[in-house]
Amino acid sequence: MTTTLRAAAQPYQPFALRVARMQRLSTTFVRVTLTGESLAEFAGHGLDQRINLILLPADADHEAFARRPDWLAAWRSGPPESRAPLRVYTIRAFRPAALEVDVDFALHGDGGPASRWAGAARPGDQVVMIGATHGHPVTDVAWRPPPGATRLLLAADETALPAAAAILEGLDRPATAFLEVPARDDCLPIGGPASITWLVRAEGQRLEPVLRAHLDAVAPAAAPTDVDPAEDDIWDVPEHPAGSFYAWLAGESGTVVALRRHLVGERGVDRSSVAFMGYWKRGRAQQN
Ligand SMILES: Cc1cc2nc3c(=O)[nH]c(=O)nc-3n(C[C@H](O)[C@H](O)[C@H](O)COP(=O)(O)OP(=O)(O)OC[C@H]3O[C@@H](n4cnc5c(N)ncnc54)[C@H](O)[C@@H]3O)c2cc1C
Repeated sequence: MTTTLRAAAQPYQPFALRVARMQRLSTTFVRVTLTGESLAEFAGHGLDQRINLILLPADADHEAFARRPDWLAAWRSGPPESRAPLRVYTIRAFRPAALEVDVDFALHGDGGPASRWAGAARPGDQVVMIGATHGHPVTDVAWRPPPGATRLLLAADETALPAAAAILEGLDRPATAFLEVPARDDCLPIGGPASITWLVRAEGQRLEPVLRAHLDAVAPAAAPTDVDPAEDDIWDVPEHPAGSFYAWLAGESGTVVALRRHLVGERGVDRSSVAFMGYWKRGRAQQN
């Protein structure tokens, strides 16, 4: 039987979901499986597909909020500090038949509402997910290598590990990945054809020096290029990447800006071949 999916009116909508189960994966990661009938309307794109989670008060009517056509205005009303926290996460897996999504949270203690929520999550807890709907262009995926690219490079910290893992497991060609995590047991199994180098922060291993050394070994330095500090924003996903090399860098903002600067400024890599995404900023909460 084939099912015809109806295009939704809006490209994104709120989904009122409940925690089905949690699984502690490692020192840092907890996988929270969310479920809800409305996931039939969710368009799962795979790869590094991002979603927003809105953490309403536990006793709020999540279903009623998600049904409101003016949910965004309702959430935005009032000063930012009084809004329910909204945080960006990645769909680690989507099982449409079971109406389930997995979100892997890198816990960082009680310092942020999302980490606190995930660390304490229990079956039945509610959350609102803002996600894509059927029948609209894909705008929530940043991984867009040129079809002909043969040299694929990924660098990620623990916040971007769920995104990197989903990308790596879907790859149809080799890639080189550098993944930095807090603890040894955070080096979770990832399938696919990529060559993965794990860096364990607790053991003094860090992305930046290791990636520089790797590039020294595989690609001679090119003529340096000027990088205007104004370009050191925290997010750039080139619309039309070209060429045989493509880099995807995601994680703590300071680190990904430095890595991108190294590739573009010191190695002469074309800007349009580097997607870099600051997933979080040290010492600064995500903006509501
Ligand atoms: C596109 C995208 C996809 C993302 N996907 C994921 C994902 O799948 N899994 C995931 O775990 N994270 C993911 N993140 C990162 C996550 O959104 C941030 O870590 C977020 O700040 C967590 O919110 P919070 O409420 O816990 O902390 P906030 O209230 O935002 O921050 C509070 C404090 O904690 C610090 N902080 C935030 N994150 C960390 C951290 N990981 N380690 C140490 N200190 C931290 C901040 O600097 C701040 O000082 C993603 C971010 C983006 C932009």
